[in-house]
Amino acid sequence: MDLNYTAEDLAFRDTVRAFLDANLPKDLQQKVLNHKRLSKEDFVRWHKIVAKQGWVGTGWPVQYGGTGWTPVQRHIWEEECAAAGTPSILPFGVNMVAPVIMAFGNEAQKSYYLPRILNCDDWWCQGYSEPGSGSDLASLKTRAERQGDHYIVNGQKTWTTLAQHADMIFCLVRTDPAVRKQEGISFLLIDMKTPGITVRPIIMLDEEHEVNEVFFDNVKVPVENLIGEENKGWTYAKYLLGHERTNIAAVGRAKRELLFLKRLAGKQMKSGKPLLDDPMFSSKVASLEIEIMALEMTVLRVLSQESAKRGPGPEASMLKVKGTEVQQMLTELMVEAVGPYAMPFDPAYLEGEQEHAVTEDDDAAPLAPYYFNFRKTSIYGGSNEIQKNIISQMILGL
Ligand SMILES: Cc1cc2nc3c(=O)[nH]c(=O)nc-3n(C[C@H](O)[C@H](O)[C@H](O)COP(=O)(O)OP(=O)(O)OC[C@H]3O[C@@H](n4cnc5c(N)ncnc54)[C@H](O)[C@@H]3O)c2cc1C
Repeated sequence: MDLNYTAEDLAFRDTVRAFLDANLPKDLQQKVLNHKRLSKEDFVRWHKIVAKQGWVGTGWPVQYGGTGWTPVQRHIWEEECAAAGTPSILPFGVNMVAPVIMAFGNEAQKSYYLPRILNCDDWWCQGYSEPGSGSDLASLKTRAERQGDHYIVNGQKTWTTLAQHADMIFCLVRTDPAVRKQEGISFLLIDMKTPGITVRPIIMLDEEHEVNEVFFDNVKVPVENLIGEENKGWTYAKYLLGHERTNIAAVGRAKRELLFLKRLAGKQMKSGKPLLDDPMFSSKVASLEIEIMALEMTVLRVLSQESAKRGPGPEASMLKVKGTEVQQMLTELMVEAVGPYAMPFDPAYLEGEQEHAVTEDDDAAPLAPYYFNFRKTSIYGGSNEIQKNIISQMILGL
């Protein structure tokens, strides 16, 4: 195991830095660094800039327009993007449905969808979870019945991230209710403009419209939108969940946010001294910094295995649990640092509609919503309790 970057890796990092310096729009960067909300246009704009450079498909094979980068190069790209404060390339198309289409789709599906995903011509969302079927996903009930050359879909998905913007949804649907639950599921691509689809917002703790309920009422889906074979969807769904774990630890962002936290605590005063010099507060920051360093080492160990072609395996669950704990701890300490200044809620400022927040402290204003928003991280992508079950069974052998 070698945890140091090679000379080629360092040269690659310089190339990435030069690209980001020259191409990351300042207004987008400021929104990200100041914890403001990004619009659909913001995400699409950054995606298209990266697509023009040919760097969207960082985990894709070259034959489909991917970069063919090594796991370490991908890590460097993600680290540098996080450090610079780029918007994320949303995972639903690039990292979730695309690998499934490559592995199990037919030639027509590959040649139609993959270039559109690279170029962000379609906004994708993920239709897995349902009321009552989250951790126990295989119990899902949304029904698809074959009628001639169409499926008729009825049911409900929930927690569907950013479905309000979506052109397409990839859905797990039940095509055979009579067999064992994992064996009657299929994987369908559905155009969100199809009649019978209703998207209803779920407003989160921070009052952001980030997730939705999606209802299907006799929605007609052409059979050519089926991926692979009917009733084999569970296999494809699990394959996709493996890819969902890319960059799950988000160490790059944690390192950037740690610097932000230190700057924030450096300018808050307590008993005439900067809060960062307060022994109680600084010991919390130090413990968090140690956690982040340990997490980074773990990520590099996993990457070293991936480079040796042993695959990420159940270690991804450790990264998910530790990564999300660190992210939540960061937001907690940010709110603790500014105390009551985080309290005024100013949605217009968060949406970027005015220069200054009601508190006139640009750093403090978004921190309470940021804290509330990040409660989600230990739930989505497979809850942390479920990840701990995986760790205990697959890694500790309990
Ligand atoms: C912000 C956000 C965005 C999301 N985006 C999407 C999306 O775009 N598409 C999508 O399909 N889904 C999405 N989800 C859904 C997410 O995948 C589920 O919320 C998650 O899988 C948990 O399912 P659940 O909410 O039904 O909780 P449940 O499965 O009902 O779990 C409730 C609680 O019980 C615990 N629990 C359940 N089973 C066990 C067990 N066996 N052992 C120990 N503890 C257990 C859980 O950890 C949790 O604490 C999103 C969720 C959130 C919060």
